[in-house]
Amino acid sequence: MDNVLLLAHTEPDGSLPRAALEALAAAKVLSGGAPVAAALFGASVDAAALALGGAGVSKVLSAQGDELGQPRYGSDAAAAAALVRASGATVVVAPATSRMARVAAGVAQRLGGRVDTHVTQVSADGGPAATRWYYRQRIEGRIRRKERPWLLLVDPGAHPAAATSDGPPPAVERVAVDLPAEALRTRVSGLKAPSSGEQTIRPDAKLLFVAGAGWTKKQPDGKPHPERAEELILGFLRASGASLGSSKSLVDQAGEGQKVLAFMSHLNQVGQTGATPRHPKGLSTCCHGEEPHVVGWRFVNQRRAVNLDPGCGWARGKADVLYVADAFQVVERLNALLAAKK
Ligand SMILES: Cc1cc2nc3c(=O)[nH]c(=O)nc-3n(C[C@H](O)[C@H](O)[C@H](O)COP(=O)(O)OP(=O)(O)OC[C@H]3O[C@@H](n4cnc5c(N)ncnc54)[C@H](O)[C@@H]3O)c2cc1C
Repeated sequence: MDNVLLLAHTEPDGSLPRAALEALAAAKVLSGGAPVAAALFGASVDAAALALGGAGVSKVLSAQGDELGQPRYGSDAAAAAALVRASGATVVVAPATSRMARVAAGVAQRLGGRVDTHVTQVSADGGPAATRWYYRQRIEGRIRRKERPWLLLVDPGAHPAAATSDGPPPAVERVAVDLPAEALRTRVSGLKAPSSGEQTIRPDAKLLFVAGAGWTKKQPDGKPHPERAEELILGFLRASGASLGSSKSLVDQAGEGQKVLAFMSHLNQVGQTGATPRHPKGLSTCCHGEEPHVVGWRFVNQRRAVNLDPGCGWARGKADVLYVADAFQVVERLNALLAAKK
């Protein structure tokens, strides 16, 4: 029987990332529902350990201190490896936050184990198994491994978060981490976001709003209206809290520095050569719905599209509902309705 561990870092405010509670749910599937140990590192882990009350965590192994507050490879890898060693775990489940993703492979190497990333599902039937997608989400594979410890990096949004309650918090055991000078020589001096404007990618949003190249094309009056498009799209995102996705055609234009949708970058691109976000609902606007784009909608459960063209790709079985309409008018009306609701 494998000994299953949740491994996660804490956020700068001491809380647990939501993805850690999702990874905990996956860890409990692997333990057959039995309580699992958690290993947490960061500047401070006490609040996060308290928050795990009633979540089916048997104990918390913790490594904390100012030096572990910095999201830095050397100290994060040292802390994670020390915690896994101290736990004696054979299967380690971690959330695929950028901080964990950076160190997971190195931690597996330090422990003589193996790592699998982008895990979307786990099961315990006949021993632990992990599911992930290959070849741009076209092939689904189920993996088992003999090597231990086996680290599984679980993609955010693939599991419901484990429920917590105000039950008694798990006991906390401190683990000493040896941090040699090399582990500390990098210092994080700040954060540079690729998109200079506002934050438009919101993985936790209920709705994915996709903008296509049609927003910048000539409209029925014979002229393009990129400024109006920008106003309408940003207005909708602010009022609805939706996450912004894009077609490749639109982000390619933005990348060329044209005066179109300045807040858009390649990070917004959805599709074969872009992202495969997970949102319960998606609304596509001014986007044709070609296969290389729609393949990125694989995990969006309910799909709707607004397009002037009744013969666009969405009409061919790719959307649940296609509104044959002018997206400028539709989004203007939606924004008015959202404003009235406030
Ligand atoms: C190898 C490869 C990989 C690719 N990878 C990706 C990828 O990852 N992601 C991706 O998106 N694409 C990808 N593509 C490109 C993809 O095939 C399409 O070219 C692209 O998605 C088209 O973008 P679009 O629908 O925004 O633009 P267009 O095809 O120009 O469509 C614009 C749409 O807007 C509609 N429209 C215009 N005005 C309005 C209005 N007022 N109201 C409503 N509708 C309006 C038009 O009817 C039209 O359907 C890839 C292509 C290749 C060859």
